[in-house]
Amino acid sequence: MPKKQTKDKKDLAYKPKSGWDTFKGRDKEIEAYNAEYMAFLSRVKTEREAVSYIEESACANRDLHVFGNRGKAMALCRKGASPMQDGIRIIIAHIDSPRLDLKANPLYEDTDLAMLKTHYYGGIKKYQWLARPLAIHGVVIREDATSVKIVIGEEDDEPCFTIEDLLPHLAGKTQYTKKIEDAFQAEKLNIIFGSRPDLKAKDDKVKAQILSLLYEKYGIVEQDFVSADLEIVPAGSAREVGLDRSMIGAYGQDDRVCAWAAFAAVRDCSDLPYTSIVLLVDKEEIGSDGNTGAKSNFLEEVLWQLSKKFNEDIIPSRVLFRSRALSGDVNGAFDPDFPEVHEKTNAAKMGYGVCVTKFTGSRGKAGSSEAHAEYMGWIRSYLNRNNIPWQTGELGKVDEGGGGTVAKYLAEYGMDIVDMGPALLSMHAPFELSSKVDTFSTYLAYRSFMEER
Ligand code: MN
Ligand code: MN
Repeated sequence: MPKKQTKDKKDLAYKPKSGWDTFKGRDKEIEAYNAEYMAFLSRVKTEREAVSYIEESACANRDLHVFGNRGKAMALCRKGASPMQDGIRIIIAHIDSPRLDLKANPLYEDTDLAMLKTHYYGGIKKYQWLARPLAIHGVVIREDATSVKIVIGEEDDEPCFTIEDLLPHLAGKTQYTKKIEDAFQAEKLNIIFGSRPDLKAKDDKVKAQILSLLYEKYGIVEQDFVSADLEIVPAGSAREVGLDRSMIGAYGQDDRVCAWAAFAAVRDCSDLPYTSIVLLVDKEEIGSDGNTGAKSNFLEEVLWQLSKKFNEDIIPSRVLFRSRALSGDVNGAFDPDFPEVHEKTNAAKMGYGVCVTKFTGSRGKAGSSEAHAEYMGWIRSYLNRNNIPWQTGELGKVDEGGGGTVAKYLAEYGMDIVDMGPALLSMHAPFELSSKVDTFSTYLAYRSFMEER
């Protein structure tokens, strides 16, 4: 039976609408949300910093139950009206971002310069990390198990670090005429760390001077690098971009844009029909392995803890099988300088609201959990009902490349899940771009997802 026909002819076509249009008159809310988000981005450059910042922000809220996992992953939970056994709502996002990690024995001296060896983490374009101010963030565990938190290079009165690049005058044979992967090699991503010699030292005078400084200022010795998580990240704060201040430029928006939106949503929501969990995980950029990644059993542990806290008897596998989830991750926005990689009808656009990505993967959807039509139907109807700007987005032309998210790891539990997050320009670059209406609509979409019956 065809549905009773009540639509006007002019309403039959799907005409995506700019988020700025949908949000007319809501500038104050957009700015307030993004100011908070930018403060988070400016302070937080690592997964550990994300966990501690959000933990601190959550601690005043007595309705939020917070669980940590080794300081690198966390869960924020809020009790809903229905028992957990009826299923819960889950939003998962990742808090690690592409960067350069220090090697276990990073420090060496070459040509009277102290240098640090790095090993890149996640998908970077190596040339983007050269000749720019860099900061070091992380933690060092001394032999006596005491730990030292390190953040150097963010404040104007602190030194920063850099990786040098070859001058154009001499780059002809080594860079210009080569393929990018040959022109920019991982073993050349060495951090310039100092150049002042310790005049009393016998040899490696610059390294000797650096070791004295490390010991004086941080109480660490060279072997302490072995037990450290030290990450080299772009230095500096998040910035508004565009004369109209309509965008945000910052490092690490993939995927802290979704992590922050999910946290703000679970913090601000109310009257939840179902218990809701925001799961912030590590290691997505290198495949979600490890005990802090999305493939770990942290979610089951959180369910067990909640069942004790709420005094509910649950079978975790049934809870998860009956649940609904969002995989909060970013998509690539249509790039006006490289239209050839996109298929315009299905690419997400900056400023058109949160992007719902039915499937990811590559070479014919391989590696994707793809959401079902029924779930997409529920998702789009709640987004429309709540007047939230949204769009769909496919990552590039078919067979142009591709990518994956953590959606498939949660889908294994039997829950319905779909990817949802803003589309970025310059994704994975040291300075990624988002639209203020897209970040705000992501927040609203997550919040309504938890509040929706
Ligand atoms: Mn991501
Ligand atoms: Mn990524």
